[in-house]
Amino acid sequence: MAPGKAPAIGIDLGTTYSCVGVFQNGKVEIIANDQGNRTTPSCVAFTDTERLIGDAAMNQLATNHKNTIFGAKRLIGRRFTDENVQSDMKHWPFTVINKGGKPMLQAEYMGEKKTLTPEEISSMVLTKMKETAEAYLGQKITDAVVTVPAYFNDAQRQATKDAGVIAGLNVIRIINEPTAAALAYGLDKKLKGEQHVLIFDLGGGTFDVSILVIGDDIFEVKSTAGDTHLGGEDFDDRLVHHLAEEFKRKHKKDMRSNSRSLRRLRTAAERAKRTLSGSTTANIQVDSLYEGIDFSTSVSRARFEELCSDIFKKCLQPVERAISDANIDKNKIDTVVIVGGSTRIPKIQKLLQEFLNGKDLNKSINPDEAVAYGAAVQAAILSGDQSEEIRDVLLVDVTPLSLGIEVTGGVMSKLIERNTNIPTKAADAFTTTADNQSVIDIIVFEGERVMTKENNRLGQFEFSGIPLAPRGVPEIEVTFDIDANGIMHVTAKDESTGRSNKITITNDRGRISKDEIERMINDAERFKAEDDAQRERIAVRDQLESFAYNVKSAINDASVERQVSSSDKEFVIKAFDDVITWMDNNSLAKKEELSLKLKELQKTCSPIMAKLHAGSNSGHSGQ
Ligand code: AMP
Repeated sequence: MAPGKAPAIGIDLGTTYSCVGVFQNGKVEIIANDQGNRTTPSCVAFTDTERLIGDAAMNQLATNHKNTIFGAKRLIGRRFTDENVQSDMKHWPFTVINKGGKPMLQAEYMGEKKTLTPEEISSMVLTKMKETAEAYLGQKITDAVVTVPAYFNDAQRQATKDAGVIAGLNVIRIINEPTAAALAYGLDKKLKGEQHVLIFDLGGGTFDVSILVIGDDIFEVKSTAGDTHLGGEDFDDRLVHHLAEEFKRKHKKDMRSNSRSLRRLRTAAERAKRTLSGSTTANIQVDSLYEGIDFSTSVSRARFEELCSDIFKKCLQPVERAISDANIDKNKIDTVVIVGGSTRIPKIQKLLQEFLNGKDLNKSINPDEAVAYGAAVQAAILSGDQSEEIRDVLLVDVTPLSLGIEVTGGVMSKLIERNTNIPTKAADAFTTTADNQSVIDIIVFEGERVMTKENNRLGQFEFSGIPLAPRGVPEIEVTFDIDANGIMHVTAKDESTGRSNKITITNDRGRISKDEIERMINDAERFKAEDDAQRERIAVRDQLESFAYNVKSAINDASVERQVSSSDKEFVIKAFDDVITWMDNNSLAKKEELSLKLKELQKTCSPIMAKLHAGSNSGHSGQ
């Protein structure tokens, strides 16, 4: 790193919580936010007067649930019609709408309805993490490594990168969360020799399994598998459903129609779920849950496990697949590292351990911070940090899904197999299906199935200007180039003319355009300006309030007649009461109005205050 240059930071942009770290002086610091917390809720709230991010947003969730947005990571890079989006929407208190096929979030901000993309919400969380690091380091930060679930596809990675751009960050690398956790584990343990390490990462909304070979500073991912839509929130859903049904049985009322009640029940369910990781029963008590009815019940761990048994079992499938893709026997796995809040669930640990023939699970790394720790290390490596601890570390990751093109009959012709080391490049030749065809459509898919209709369509592009020739004669070479972020770039070349084209996949997956990103960057600046104005307004308001109270307490403490007259005292108390009443009636007063009030109060009270001080001074000298 060049002297004086701000360090690059590592950000774990989580579904429920985010975390930021920086590598300095040979070690990683996980940075606490302004509330002193080392993780920050990935939550953004909008109110009549301000925008709140992180803890402040979370703290007002119960009273402003319709305008408090969380879980944007579950939407990022997806289409509105995606079945996961549709099912999430049912559980969320805020509104998700369909705009051009993309899910967008709605909130009321300063009395106006705002429509925001999941990228914008994520960018706000990233901004908060950036500011947390800036406050700690005392420098402006631009470079960052941001993590994503290993199983995120091209569109989800692109969208995460876009979120970084909107936040004013230069995302120097997107890395996979389990790989980052492995980096944290490997560096912490200073492993010698080669070890097969399985990382089982089950968080709030996503699930990843990766198998790495770690040894002598090389971290090589062998395989990865997972589910970008499986995690703690799914367990919460099951518990909420169960509790709502119980409420209905007991009280003959369906409380699910009320989003505020549902939100409160969800918070209680999540808390009960955590309790059940340590105890065999959890009590649930929600006062006035619905139509004034209190709800009180208990859930046993056995019941919870039964409610979630199918999803718990689903967690083993990616483990099985990752092992088979890595081409090793499961007994060859030396260490199993568990990360992510949901791995605290005893049944999940038991199922995993049984599946791996009783292998011990390693819980040595902090599940909440390991990913940011690894991201901070990778950020330092990419910035050229020459510290001994990381100087020789090499990270080799893989692409999670196979990539290919549709050929005749709707068959998927794979160019890149899943679990190929990245960066990677592959090419294949395509031709025309009709005589004198001058344009061909190339449709790109990701997935493992033989037929493209079962896979995930990434987009399509057109290659035109092919010289007229009989069918099958032209040769168009299509190249897929996957960079170290796991993001794909496509080029096509006509072999006969040598003409080539860099192709951008059309907006099939609802990726935001350059212009839209530009607009969002401007919006982000406006939001920031509004946040700053709000902060300044509150500072003046606090100043006014504290001045008023100070004056009142000084006058109350003053001895009447010796320091001030009783009429002066009444005068000041009246001025105090007037100001406080004015503040109560004008809670939205502007900074300028507040400043004016402060000046007025200072002017009104200063002669009396001066007398008071003179009085107290003479009092002192007289003693
Ligand atoms: P992460 O995304 O890694 O921060 O994980 C967050 C998820 O872990 C949330 O769904 C939490 O409800 C869940 N979680 C945190 N602590 C526990 C616990 N003790 N038992 C069960 N789940 C937990």
